[in-house]
Amino acid sequence: MEIRELGEFGLIDRLKEQTIFSPDLVLAGIGDDCAVVRHGPGTVQLMTTDMLVEDIHFTLTTSSPQEIGYKSMAVNFSDIAAMGGQPRHALVSIALPRSLPVEFVTAMYAGMKEICAQFGVNIVGGDTVASPKSLVINVALTGDAAPERVVMRKGARPGDLVAVSGTLGDSAAGLELLLTGQDGGAAGVILKDRHRRPQPRVVLGQRLAAAGVTSMDDISDGLASELLEIAVPSQVDLVIDSAALPLSTELQTLAGQLSKDLLHYALYGGEDFQLLFTLAPHCYDNLPADIRGAITLIGTVQPGEGRSFLLFPDGQREQLQARGYNHFREDVEA
Ligand code: ADP
Ligand code: MG
Repeated sequence: MEIRELGEFGLIDRLKEQTIFSPDLVLAGIGDDCAVVRHGPGTVQLMTTDMLVEDIHFTLTTSSPQEIGYKSMAVNFSDIAAMGGQPRHALVSIALPRSLPVEFVTAMYAGMKEICAQFGVNIVGGDTVASPKSLVINVALTGDAAPERVVMRKGARPGDLVAVSGTLGDSAAGLELLLTGQDGGAAGVILKDRHRRPQPRVVLGQRLAAAGVTSMDDISDGLASELLEIAVPSQVDLVIDSAALPLSTELQTLAGQLSKDLLHYALYGGEDFQLLFTLAPHCYDNLPADIRGAITLIGTVQPGEGRSFLLFPDGQREQLQARGYNHFREDVEA
């Protein structure tokens, strides 16, 4: 059935089932003029929103409806994770071509509900409108955190270490495999999954915040771009060791098959949704072993003026530019 047959309210009725995964926080969810929610005493509220547009952020040829729904939530969860917070309540606004099948939209919501269930996040409302052509999804998300534990981008200090979680460049390599129709074997399956179903580092973000990291950002537009997002507001220079960048075994396995040098994926590939952060050396020394196992030290914070540099094993040093995805520029690589 096409959604034009079901209409706006019929569609909302189908979407609103099983959207509440932390019921104790919700006084009114979907169905009233506003959602009414509780937020914990002694916490500050975090708010974020991200919009995904068909053929800019996703294509119907490389992602399933479930994956599109899942990812539209995951990217917002990642922003809350980067502040050290807990995601709580989502508003989902969708603009849909009238000819879209109802099953497409319910599958998209199944993807959203899957990750909301995983993190106890409620879908408490949204808006549904028609679109002349493309599918657009906007998720607005609240979260909360103890005020003293919110981690901003501006807190990096000279003498701190720079670290990242997980591995870098997998999502961009996975996207390349998808767009070029390459298989990539078992490694390819994993890289494509990293692109289509990123895991926001919510629990790790909270634990790093509790451990006292000084600044944090999630890697949505590529490491090079995110380094500057910490360096500029902190007014420091970040110096990164190129040999230290964590690359997955899957990425390394496919090195011969991919079009670019692996360093390129690690620096400029977007959408890894890992955490980039800075911390004092004593803070690193005191981290529990499992956290240390989940992160990699990649450089140091030095006095400076908001730049970042890449050090090569031969001693060469290159100043990094933000060459990740930028919506209104045409001279950059996606
Ligand atoms: P209003 O006219 O008050 O804006 P709507 O008729 O647009 O309300 O929506 C009815 C209810 O359904 C509201 O609670 C709204 O938040 C919710 N809602 C509408 N669209 C969506 C959606 N795509 N996902 C989740 N909830 C939605
Ligand atoms: Mg409305």
